[in-house]
Amino acid sequence: MNFHVITLFPEICEAYTSASVLGRAQKTEKGKGAKHRGKKIEVKYYNPRDFAKGKHAKTDDRPYGGGPGMVMYAEPILKAWEKAVGKKKDQKKIKTLIMAPRGKAFTTKMAKDLAKKYEHLVLISGRYEGIDSRVQKILKAEEVSIGDYVLTGGELPALTIIDSVSRQVPGVLGTFESLEEERVSSGEMYTRPEVLEYKKKKHKVPPVFLSGNHAEIEKYKSSSK
Ligand code: SAH
Repeated sequence: MNFHVITLFPEICEAYTSASVLGRAQKTEKGKGAKHRGKKIEVKYYNPRDFAKGKHAKTDDRPYGGGPGMVMYAEPILKAWEKAVGKKKDQKKIKTLIMAPRGKAFTTKMAKDLAKKYEHLVLISGRYEGIDSRVQKILKAEEVSIGDYVLTGGELPALTIIDSVSRQVPGVLGTFESLEEERVSSGEMYTRPEVLEYKKKKHKVPPVFLSGNHAEIEKYKSSSK
């Protein structure tokens, strides 16, 4: 899966996508017996500022019809999109999503479908009041929201989608983690020490976790969700 992120702030996203599971998924695996040896995902960034005109490389302007705030120009974003996937032959394998608080609510089901159907996901991240609507119309992009709240930019939404879709790409998670994924929430969990002393009080791991009886452990976990 190739992710292409169009954002005015690539540097705040890169730190997240280069760490941990996502970072590993962008490298070729060396060890023997690795089932999916190649890179599983790739994340590239495109800054509309690099495609903007004039000495000041302006990327936004006042809205037609009035109202508060600034609107991001369509052209630098369209040019960034061209650079990302404009030359790709199989346009059916490309999906463009615009981060928007009023968009379709993002879910695990969407993540699974996107991972299955597409090879390139272009994630367009807005700032200020949002993006000139002609971008959505021209690219026939889908507007997606990660939740019923308004953020200052589309960077966290784009990262959320990359993270969640990557988990659905074969080989990104280990086999065990993938199994865990199927259960979505595994309820309570504990690790060492068996007795945690905090502010003079002792906090024990519930005995069932030490029983070795997996059926009982599962029962306890699902009842504690
Ligand atoms: N006044 C605008 C708010 C824009 S928020 C409005 O009501 O639409 C600025 C940018 O942040 C948006 O363009 C979008 O890309 C992103 N954004 C904010 N909240 C979001 C959410 N919940 N889901 C997806 N993107 C969001």
